[in-house]
Amino acid sequence: RPIPLTRALISVSDKTGLVEFAQALAARGVELLSTGGTAKTLREAGLSVRDVADVTGFPEMMDGRVKTLHPKVHGGLLALRDNEEHLAAMEAHQIEAIDLLVVNLYPFEETVAKGADYETCIENIDIGGPAMIRAAAKNHAFVSTVVDVEDYAAVLAELDANDGATTYPFRQRLAQIAYARTAAYDAAVSTWMAGAIGEETPRRRAFAGKIAQTLRYGENPHQQAAFYLDGTNRPGVATAKQLQGKELSYNNINDTDAAFELVSEFGTEKPAVAIIKHANPCGVATGETVIEAYKRAFDCDRTSAFGGIIALNQTLDAATAEEITKIFSEVIIAPSVDDAAKEVIAKKKNVRLLETGGLPDTTAPITTYRQVAGGFLVQDKDNGVITLDDLKVVTERQPSEQELKDLLFAWKVAKHVKSNAIIYVKDGATVGVGAGQMSRVDSTRIAARKAEDMMEACGMAETPTKGSVVASDAFFPFADGLITAAEAGATAIIQPGGSMRDQEVIDAANERGLAMVFTGMRHFRH
Ligand code: 5GP
Repeated sequence: RPIPLTRALISVSDKTGLVEFAQALAARGVELLSTGGTAKTLREAGLSVRDVADVTGFPEMMDGRVKTLHPKVHGGLLALRDNEEHLAAMEAHQIEAIDLLVVNLYPFEETVAKGADYETCIENIDIGGPAMIRAAAKNHAFVSTVVDVEDYAAVLAELDANDGATTYPFRQRLAQIAYARTAAYDAAVSTWMAGAIGEETPRRRAFAGKIAQTLRYGENPHQQAAFYLDGTNRPGVATAKQLQGKELSYNNINDTDAAFELVSEFGTEKPAVAIIKHANPCGVATGETVIEAYKRAFDCDRTSAFGGIIALNQTLDAATAEEITKIFSEVIIAPSVDDAAKEVIAKKKNVRLLETGGLPDTTAPITTYRQVAGGFLVQDKDNGVITLDDLKVVTERQPSEQELKDLLFAWKVAKHVKSNAIIYVKDGATVGVGAGQMSRVDSTRIAARKAEDMMEACGMAETPTKGSVVASDAFFPFADGLITAAEAGATAIIQPGGSMRDQEVIDAANERGLAMVFTGMRHFRH
């Protein structure tokens, strides 16, 4: 049964669209109650408003910590209008029914994102707002709860369609949205606190998220999808500024994230470029210049690079932009893009160009989630880093200095390739990537074969894997993978070690004059 809307309580921090909405309510004969700042804005726009302080008989106090926390407000929101006892209580205590609650909360997530200090973040935890939202949403049998500026128009449409009243299904939907908001809000508080007090364990973490974008569809067109911000403001795809191109798709976002997280591993010391397809790199390289890094990344697998996602760890310049736009790419992401490069990319309207403003801290503690039937898995992000000191040489031959450099490069890339991951590297560039195979020897073969394909396509004199080094994200369970790599021309191997057959693998390396190092750390990525 539709409930006529006669009285609304409006208390909003984000005053976007407020005046227009309140005017439209007033025009429909709705009485307006408001808190300090909101009432002031409405009065300045010429609207007549009652102060909540007048309703409660209490001033707003304690820096606004206590404004609406009063039985006159909560009674008005929670009373069941068809319950004799509730009606009697309203009468006895002069509580007026509130039919519509419009609240958006103190900008806690934005305050954290701005890097505010601890006290400021604490002060931006809204207390009265969520209390009212939860009360009004519980009483959706009678009350409409609006927590999002985006829903103002829907309320007006509902009133117009129902002669100034709201229907039960409409109020139910609003209540569901309201609880999603308070849940996300408290989760944001908890997540921020976990970081602030250095609580790094993923156990007992709440889920925080603020919707950023409703996506056209998910991984496939028949799947609905949305993109949420977690409030950490980490530089990357979620917070980047899109300079041009179509809206990012679900797959774009996923791949762009993989690409940018990968190049961020290289810091800003030396230009690095990664080209990603289906969340796996088809080329990663460093270079003396950005364009050199791009060309070398592209040369790893020119066929797969088409329609890829390109990430840079440094400013995109015009020369590199010219080179990149020789073929079609879905997305380019970089910490910054200079003006000349922007002009070059502007000629390719379909390319999405993202500027992040910086690189993320790849060692920052981050919690990752994956859903399984009936539950979800929560873990720390793989932040494992290996340095020269961690390497244990297990072969008769020591790796050369160049081999060591390439081994560490290959290991960084391996962390970002789906298992089973095998990466061939030469002079700071991948020359073969084997990803996501169910057997390690298959990944080893595929990467080598792809390198041979490149040799044929580009008319090279010899396979680029000749004189390369190889990283394996987990141990070789048998010697066959290592033997395949050696036959492809690899001279050094980096892998965690720890297999029952380590000795067999070491023997095979020694027989072929290979150098091999163990990291003692695994980088599974599934
Ligand atoms: P205004 O700008 O109208 O002064 O304040 C609006 C904000 O105050 C809204 O974000 C609302 O959620 C919040 N708010 C309303 N009542 C209370 C309360 O009792 N305590 C606190 N901490 N915030 C409140």
